[in-house]
Amino acid sequence: MSQPSPAPVSLDLASLDLPPLDPAAAWVACRHRIVRAARKSGRDPATVHLTAVSKTQPWSAIAPVLAAGQTVFGENRVQEAQARWGERRQGLELRLIGPLQSNKAREAVALFDVIETLDRPRLAAALVQAMEKLGVTPRLYVQVNTGEEPQKAGVIPSELPAFLALCRSTYGLTLEGLMCIPPADAPPGPHFALLAKLARRHGLDRLSMGMSGDYEIAIRHGATDVRIGSALFGARPPTPVAAG
Ligand SMILES: *Cc1c(COP(=O)(O)O)cnc(C)c1O
Repeated sequence: MSQPSPAPVSLDLASLDLPPLDPAAAWVACRHRIVRAARKSGRDPATVHLTAVSKTQPWSAIAPVLAAGQTVFGENRVQEAQARWGERRQGLELRLIGPLQSNKAREAVALFDVIETLDRPRLAAALVQAMEKLGVTPRLYVQVNTGEEPQKAGVIPSELPAFLALCRSTYGLTLEGLMCIPPADAPPGPHFALLAKLARRHGLDRLSMGMSGDYEIAIRHGATDVRIGSALFGARPPTPVAAG
């Protein structure tokens, strides 16, 4: 009996959101580029830290990067991060890089080593309360809306001095650095330069800036923490993938 010939399979690879063939190789390449960019700017490469942004990525993409030795991961949602990392927390540094609602402050303080998105008095108050209650002190960055975009989180630059004073004096918070996400449609350099200037002026050492498309520019402007997702793991799936 003759078999019907199988219908030709057509695979739209782009629609599958596959991770890069080798995320570990992408990680090595990315670290080389970080070192090269730091040296080119006359900076010590050890002063530039890589946050691997694992939000919404499938575990199949994250596992090779974790196995290669990456220990610092960035997430933008508390619940998703809890699901992905809660059981694998040991030995890692988790950084919250997405907007934080005040009513999630306690969960965020319990999970994250670093919260990069402090940007309003109510959140500062909620974080202080959570830190006192839980007896832990995540390191804090203030997010600055350098492009003054209405839809974007972050303190606008003119309001930064008052906000930093409030955090430090009223709430007694120790702040580690500043973070920004430049407008998507503008050259990022001036935004990185502005963030660096603000950090110098206010005695803050760390600068979280630079993503897959612009981290070398950010390093030139003094970034100490680059947040890189798609260059390591591939294009992000549009919705969170269930943590594996
Ligand atoms: C998603 C995200 C990143 C990573 O972006 P890539 O372009 O994939 O590197 C960095 N920072 C923040 C705040 C993000 O939300």
